[in-house]
Amino acid sequence: MENALQRFLFEHVNIRGELVSLDSSWRHVLERRTYPNSVKRLLGEVTAATVLLAATIKLDGTLSIQIKGHSALQLLFAETIGSTSFRSTAKWNEHEEMNLENINLLSGGSIAVTITPKTSGQPYQGLVQVQSESIQESLENYMGQSEQLPTRLWLASNDQKASGMLLQKLPGKDNIESDDWQRINTLASTITDKELLSLDFDTILKRLFHEETVRLFDDSPLSFMCSCSEKRTDGMLQSLGEAEVRSILSEKGNVNITCEFCGKNYIYALPGIDRIFSGQSSDPIQDFHGSIN
Ligand SMILES: [Zn+2]
Repeated sequence: MENALQRFLFEHVNIRGELVSLDSSWRHVLERRTYPNSVKRLLGEVTAATVLLAATIKLDGTLSIQIKGHSALQLLFAETIGSTSFRSTAKWNEHEEMNLENINLLSGGSIAVTITPKTSGQPYQGLVQVQSESIQESLENYMGQSEQLPTRLWLASNDQKASGMLLQKLPGKDNIESDDWQRINTLASTITDKELLSLDFDTILKRLFHEETVRLFDDSPLSFMCSCSEKRTDGMLQSLGEAEVRSILSEKGNVNITCEFCGKNYIYALPGIDRIFSGQSSDPIQDFHGSIN
Protein backbone atom coordinates (compact mmCIF):
# COMPACT_ATOMS: atom_id res chain seq x y z
CA MET A 1 0.00 0.00 0.00
CA GLU A 2 1.55 3.30 -1.10
CA ASN A 3 1.18 6.54 0.87
CA ALA A 4 -1.30 5.12 3.33
CA LEU A 5 -2.08 4.57 6.96
CA GLN A 6 -3.59 1.27 8.11
CA ARG A 7 -5.32 1.04 11.47
CA PHE A 8 -5.87 -2.35 13.08
CA LEU A 9 -7.14 -3.84 16.30
CA PHE A 10 -6.33 -7.06 18.09
CA GLU A 11 -9.62 -8.82 18.81
CA HIS A 12 -10.20 -9.90 22.43
CA VAL A 13 -7.30 -7.84 23.78
CA ASN A 14 -7.26 -4.10 24.34
CA ILE A 15 -4.51 -3.25 21.90
CA ARG A 16 -4.66 -1.23 18.73
CA GLY A 17 -2.09 -0.63 16.05
CA GLU A 18 -1.22 1.42 13.00
CA LEU A 19 1.11 0.98 10.06
CA VAL A 20 2.23 3.82 7.83
CA SER A 21 3.99 3.75 4.49
CA LEU A 22 5.06 6.98 2.80
CA ASP A 23 6.47 6.35 -0.66
CA SER A 24 6.12 8.91 -3.49
CA SER A 25 5.02 11.51 -0.92
CA TRP A 26 8.28 11.00 1.00
CA ARG A 27 10.32 11.14 -2.20
CA HIS A 28 8.58 14.44 -2.92
CA VAL A 29 10.06 15.79 0.35
CA LEU A 30 13.53 14.57 -0.67
CA GLU A 31 13.32 16.07 -4.16
CA ARG A 32 13.12 19.57 -2.70
CA ARG A 33 16.52 19.55 -0.97
CA THR A 34 19.69 17.52 -0.76
CA TYR A 35 19.69 16.29 2.82
CA PRO A 36 22.80 14.76 4.40
CA ASN A 37 22.18 11.00 4.88
CA SER A 38 21.96 11.06 8.67
CA VAL A 39 19.56 14.04 8.65
CA LYS A 40 17.47 12.37 5.95
CA ARG A 41 17.10 9.17 7.96
CA LEU A 42 15.97 11.01 11.09
CA LEU A 43 13.61 13.24 9.10
CA GLY A 44 11.96 10.14 7.60
CA GLU A 45 11.54 8.64 11.06
CA VAL A 46 10.04 11.78 12.56
CA THR A 47 7.72 12.19 9.56
CA ALA A 48 6.39 8.63 9.91
CA ALA A 49 6.03 9.12 13.68
CA THR A 50 4.05 12.34 13.23
CA VAL A 51 1.52 10.58 11.00
CA LEU A 52 1.21 7.69 13.48
CA LEU A 53 0.71 9.94 16.52
CA ALA A 54 -1.84 12.14 14.75
CA ALA A 55 -3.85 9.03 13.84
CA THR A 56 -4.07 7.89 17.47
CA ILE A 57 -5.95 11.04 18.46
CA LYS A 58 -8.22 11.23 15.40
CA LEU A 59 -6.99 14.71 14.81
CA ASP A 60 -9.01 17.56 13.38
CA GLY A 61 -6.28 20.19 13.19
CA THR A 62 -2.51 19.92 13.01
CA LEU A 63 0.04 17.90 14.94
CA SER A 64 3.70 18.73 14.63
CA ILE A 65 6.85 17.21 16.05
CA GLN A 66 9.86 19.47 16.33
CA ILE A 67 13.25 18.15 17.37
CA LYS A 68 16.22 20.28 18.30
CA GLY A 69 19.34 18.22 18.70
CA HIS A 70 23.12 18.56 18.63
CA SER A 71 24.40 21.95 17.44
CA ALA A 72 24.94 20.40 14.01
CA LEU A 73 21.24 19.53 13.77
CA GLN A 74 19.24 22.69 14.30
CA LEU A 75 15.78 21.36 13.56
CA LEU A 76 13.76 18.39 12.40
CA PHE A 77 10.15 19.38 11.78
CA ALA A 78 7.20 17.31 10.59
CA GLU A 79 3.54 18.23 10.62
CA THR A 80 0.31 16.50 9.68
CA ILE A 81 -2.83 18.29 8.73
CA GLY A 82 -6.02 16.44 9.65
CA SER A 83 -4.34 13.00 9.40
CA THR A 84 -4.49 13.07 5.60
CA SER A 85 -1.50 15.14 4.56
CA PHE A 86 1.91 15.99 5.91
CA ARG A 87 4.98 18.12 5.29
CA SER A 88 8.45 18.01 6.78
CA THR A 89 11.80 19.76 6.64
CA ALA A 90 15.15 19.96 8.45
CA LYS A 91 17.82 22.53 9.17
CA TRP A 92 21.39 21.66 9.87
CA ASN A 93 24.65 23.51 10.30
CA GLU A 94 26.35 23.50 6.93
CA HIS A 95 29.73 24.24 8.53
CA GLU A 96 29.50 20.91 10.34
CA GLU A 97 28.23 18.99 7.33
CA MET A 98 31.43 16.92 7.04
CA ASN A 99 30.90 15.59 10.55
CA LEU A 100 27.18 14.94 10.40
CA GLU A 101 27.58 11.23 9.74
CA ASN A 102 29.92 10.74 12.70
CA ILE A 103 28.05 12.34 15.57
CA ASN A 104 24.89 11.56 17.49
CA LEU A 105 22.64 14.24 16.06
CA LEU A 106 20.05 13.80 18.79
CA SER A 107 22.52 14.27 21.62
CA GLY A 108 21.19 16.58 24.35
CA GLY A 109 18.13 17.25 22.24
CA SER A 110 14.53 17.95 23.01
CA ILE A 111 11.28 16.98 21.30
CA ALA A 112 8.22 19.22 21.21
CA VAL A 113 4.85 17.81 20.17
CA THR A 114 2.31 20.53 19.33
CA ILE A 115 -1.37 19.88 18.72
CA THR A 116 -3.41 22.74 17.26
CA PRO A 117 -7.18 22.18 17.02
CA LYS A 118 -8.68 23.35 13.73
CA THR A 119 -11.46 25.46 15.12
CA SER A 120 -11.40 26.30 18.79
CA GLY A 121 -8.98 26.02 21.64
CA GLN A 122 -5.37 26.90 22.21
CA PRO A 123 -2.46 24.90 20.83
CA TYR A 124 -1.21 22.30 23.29
CA GLN A 125 2.53 21.62 23.49
CA GLY A 126 4.29 18.77 25.28
CA LEU A 127 8.06 18.64 25.68
CA VAL A 128 10.36 15.70 26.35
CA GLN A 129 14.11 15.26 26.37
CA VAL A 130 15.60 12.90 23.80
CA GLN A 131 16.11 9.50 25.41
CA SER A 132 18.62 6.86 24.48
CA GLU A 133 19.58 8.65 21.29
CA SER A 134 16.39 7.46 19.68
CA ILE A 135 13.33 9.28 18.35
CA GLN A 136 11.11 6.29 18.93
CA GLU A 137 12.02 5.78 22.58
CA SER A 138 11.62 9.48 23.29
CA LEU A 139 8.18 9.52 21.73
CA GLU A 140 7.17 6.33 23.54
CA ASN A 141 8.07 8.12 26.73
CA TYR A 142 6.09 11.20 25.66
CA MET A 143 2.99 9.13 24.82
CA GLY A 144 3.22 7.24 28.11
CA GLN A 145 3.23 10.55 29.99
CA SER A 146 0.81 12.65 27.98
CA GLU A 147 -1.75 10.09 26.86
CA GLN A 148 -1.05 7.74 29.76
CA LEU A 149 -1.37 4.88 27.32
CA PRO A 150 1.64 2.56 26.92
CA THR A 151 2.75 3.00 23.33
CA ARG A 152 5.48 1.36 21.23
CA LEU A 153 6.89 2.65 17.96
CA TRP A 154 9.04 1.22 15.20
CA LEU A 155 10.37 3.70 12.64
CA ALA A 156 12.52 3.32 9.53
CA SER A 157 13.37 5.35 6.46
CA ASN A 158 15.56 5.31 3.38
CA ASP A 159 15.72 7.18 0.04
CA GLN A 160 12.50 5.59 -1.17
CA LYS A 161 10.29 5.27 1.83
CA ALA A 162 9.46 6.36 5.38
CA SER A 163 7.60 3.71 7.35
CA GLY A 164 6.47 3.01 10.85
CA MET A 165 4.36 0.90 13.14
CA LEU A 166 2.65 1.87 16.38
CA LEU A 167 1.07 -0.30 19.06
CA GLN A 168 -0.98 1.14 21.87
CA LYS A 169 -2.47 -0.49 24.93
CA LEU A 170 -5.98 0.80 25.44
CA PRO A 171 -7.49 1.37 28.87
CA GLY A 172 -9.24 -1.62 30.42
CA LYS A 173 -8.98 -4.43 32.94
CA ASP A 174 -5.32 -5.05 33.70
CA ASN A 175 -3.34 -8.15 34.77
CA ILE A 176 -4.39 -10.57 32.06
CA GLU A 177 -4.04 -7.80 29.54
CA SER A 178 -0.48 -6.97 30.52
CA ASP A 179 0.43 -10.51 29.42
CA ASP A 180 -1.26 -9.76 26.11
CA TRP A 181 0.66 -6.50 25.82
CA GLN A 182 3.93 -8.32 26.50
CA ARG A 183 3.17 -11.06 23.99
CA ILE A 184 2.11 -8.69 21.19
CA ASN A 185 5.17 -6.52 21.85
CA THR A 186 7.50 -9.48 21.72
CA LEU A 187 6.01 -10.54 18.39
CA ALA A 188 6.15 -6.98 17.01
CA SER A 189 9.76 -6.50 18.06
CA THR A 190 10.90 -9.14 15.58
CA ILE A 191 10.22 -6.68 12.73
CA THR A 192 13.36 -5.40 11.03
CA ASP A 193 13.85 -2.00 9.38
CA LYS A 194 14.29 -3.81 6.08
CA GLU A 195 10.92 -5.55 6.45
CA LEU A 196 9.18 -2.36 7.50
CA LEU A 197 10.56 -0.65 4.39
CA SER A 198 9.91 -3.42 1.89
CA LEU A 199 6.81 -5.42 2.86
CA ASP A 200 3.17 -4.43 2.35
CA PHE A 201 0.82 -4.05 5.31
CA ASP A 202 -0.85 -7.47 4.95
CA THR A 203 2.47 -9.28 4.76
CA ILE A 204 3.82 -7.45 7.82
CA LEU A 205 0.71 -8.27 9.89
CA LYS A 206 0.72 -11.94 8.81
CA ARG A 207 4.44 -12.25 9.38
CA LEU A 208 4.24 -10.76 12.92
CA PHE A 209 0.81 -11.74 14.21
CA HIS A 210 -0.33 -14.84 12.32
CA GLU A 211 -1.58 -16.49 15.50
CA GLU A 212 -3.54 -13.45 16.63
CA THR A 213 -6.93 -12.26 15.42
CA VAL A 214 -6.33 -8.88 13.85
CA ARG A 215 -9.19 -6.73 12.56
CA LEU A 216 -8.26 -4.25 9.83
CA PHE A 217 -9.96 -0.93 9.32
CA ASP A 218 -10.10 0.84 5.96
CA ASP A 219 -6.74 2.27 5.05
CA SER A 220 -6.53 6.03 4.62
CA PRO A 221 -4.53 7.78 1.92
CA LEU A 222 -1.82 10.31 2.77
CA SER A 223 -0.17 12.94 0.63
CA PHE A 224 2.43 15.65 0.82
CA MET A 225 0.77 19.04 1.14
CA CYS A 226 2.15 22.38 2.19
CA SER A 227 0.06 24.90 4.07
CA CYS A 228 2.26 27.89 3.35
CA SER A 229 0.43 31.03 2.29
CA GLU A 230 0.96 34.71 1.68
CA LYS A 231 -0.66 35.39 5.05
CA ARG A 232 2.02 33.29 6.74
CA THR A 233 4.89 34.92 4.85
CA ASP A 234 3.38 38.31 5.75
CA GLY A 235 3.58 37.20 9.39
CA MET A 236 7.22 36.14 9.00
CA LEU A 237 8.14 39.56 7.59
CA GLN A 238 6.20 41.36 10.33
CA SER A 239 8.08 39.42 12.97
CA LEU A 240 11.39 40.35 11.32
CA GLY A 241 10.50 44.01 11.75
CA GLU A 242 9.99 46.90 9.34
CA ALA A 243 13.55 48.30 9.47
CA GLU A 244 15.15 44.94 8.63
CA VAL A 245 12.68 44.18 5.83
CA ARG A 246 13.04 47.63 4.25
CA SER A 247 16.81 47.32 4.34
CA ILE A 248 16.63 43.99 2.47
CA LEU A 249 14.24 45.60 -0.01
CA SER A 250 16.55 48.54 -0.72
CA GLU A 251 19.56 46.27 -1.02
CA LYS A 252 18.00 43.66 -3.32
CA GLY A 253 15.11 45.43 -5.03
CA ASN A 254 12.60 42.92 -3.67
CA VAL A 255 12.21 40.46 -0.81
CA ASN A 256 12.16 36.87 -1.98
CA ILE A 257 11.08 34.18 0.50
CA THR A 258 11.33 30.48 -0.28
CA CYS A 259 9.17 28.04 1.66
CA GLU A 260 11.41 25.39 3.20
CA PHE A 261 8.78 22.67 2.83
CA CYS A 262 7.57 23.00 -0.76
CA GLY A 263 10.04 25.40 -2.37
CA LYS A 264 7.36 27.93 -3.37
CA ASN A 265 8.67 31.49 -3.80
CA TYR A 266 6.93 34.53 -2.38
CA ILE A 267 8.26 37.75 -3.90
CA TYR A 268 7.51 41.10 -2.32
CA ALA A 269 8.21 44.42 -4.04
CA LEU A 270 7.63 47.84 -2.48
CA PRO A 271 3.78 47.82 -2.61
CA GLY A 272 3.65 44.45 -0.85
CA ILE A 273 6.01 45.61 1.90
CA ASP A 274 4.02 48.86 2.29
CA ARG A 275 0.84 46.80 2.70
CA ILE A 276 2.37 44.58 5.42
CA PHE A 277 3.59 47.52 7.48
CA SER A 278 0.58 49.77 6.86
CA GLY A 279 -1.08 48.36 9.95
CA GLN A 280 -3.97 46.98 7.90
CA SER A 281 -2.91 43.34 7.94
CA SER A 282 -4.81 40.90 10.10
CA ASP A 283 -3.17 39.13 13.05
CA PRO A 284 0.24 37.89 11.97
CA ILE A 285 0.83 34.15 11.83
CA GLN A 286 4.42 33.64 12.79
CA ASP A 287 4.94 29.95 12.16
CA PHE A 288 6.22 30.22 8.61
CA HIS A 289 9.39 28.24 7.91
CA GLY A 290 11.09 30.01 5.06
CA SER A 291 14.37 31.53 4.06
CA ILE A 292 15.00 34.95 2.59
CA ASN A 293 17.21 34.84 -0.48
ZN1 LIG B 1 5.18 25.67 1.21
